[in-house]
Amino acid sequence: MSYHRSEDAVRGRGRGRGRGRGAPAAAGSAAVVRQTATFGGLPVCYQYNSGTCARTAVKQGVCKDAKGTHYSHACNWMDKATSQFCLKDHPRHNNH
Ligand SMILES: [Zn+2]
Ligand SMILES: [Zn+2]
Repeated sequence: MSYHRSEDAVRGRGRGRGRGRGAPAAAGSAAVVRQTATFGGLPVCYQYNSGTCARTAVKQGVCKDAKGTHYSHACNWMDKATSQFCLKDHPRHNNH
């Protein structure tokens, strides 16, 4: 019986299987998460896009709610081909 045991011994060494690095990267999930349209750094007003915005106008194209959160009056229609929001100054409901 003369198996070459020495080779096994060598192969089993130095192969620490990356301990403590098991956390999967959180990147690449954008396709699953529903995006929120923003314009000019503000979330797009959904009331505007559905036809009537009952919030308080701050200035042209911007409204705010009772909490003081500002919203942008931009179109939140998404082009499925490009995954880009329209973001024009018309409401979505009668333009798409
Ligand atoms: Zn609004
Ligand atoms: Zn649009």
